[in-house]
Amino acid sequence: MSSIPTLHALLIDEIKDLFHAENQLLKALPKMGKAATNRQLKAGFSAHLTETRGHVTRLAQALRILGLPAKGKPCHAMMGLVEEGAEAIATKGPDAVRDAALIGAAQRVEHYEMAGYGTARAFAQALGESRVAALLQATLDEEGDTNKKLTAISEVVNAEALAAGGEIAAPKKSRK
Ligand code: FE
Ligand code: FE
Repeated sequence: MSSIPTLHALLIDEIKDLFHAENQLLKALPKMGKAATNRQLKAGFSAHLTETRGHVTRLAQALRILGLPAKGKPCHAMMGLVEEGAEAIATKGPDAVRDAALIGAAQRVEHYEMAGYGTARAFAQALGESRVAALLQATLDEEGDTNKKLTAISEVVNAEALAAGGEIAAPKKSRK
């Protein structure tokens, strides 16, 4: 167990965690994009890869502002999420159902990133590290946008998955 005696040290710990998490995504996103069938989803994964390179750059900048090298520490949460993504990639069955699984995995990643960046940004703000806070906020905004785009794509993909599996959408239950 490493000692984290101050909020400043905790901020650094969080940023290193995010740095490792984003670097894992650089490797995972091309594989998810390759596995995707829906063209919008494929394009989404490739846009996300470009965006992720920017996220790594911002984290390196934040570390530089804090006087540290661009180096992360193992983020076990993202390792698990990437494993879930690998499971989605390996899903056998209709393409649209696999796409739906890939979106689910991608959205879990986005939500984790949003939580991580939100936490780190709050630490930076509390410490008066305004430049670091601004860098973290810029990425946080992009993570939120990506999540919304994935939600929009999922509406199309889920309908395709229903059709591909021969399922009929269940009628909405009336609530009384
Ligand atoms: Fe990111
Ligand atoms: Fe992201």
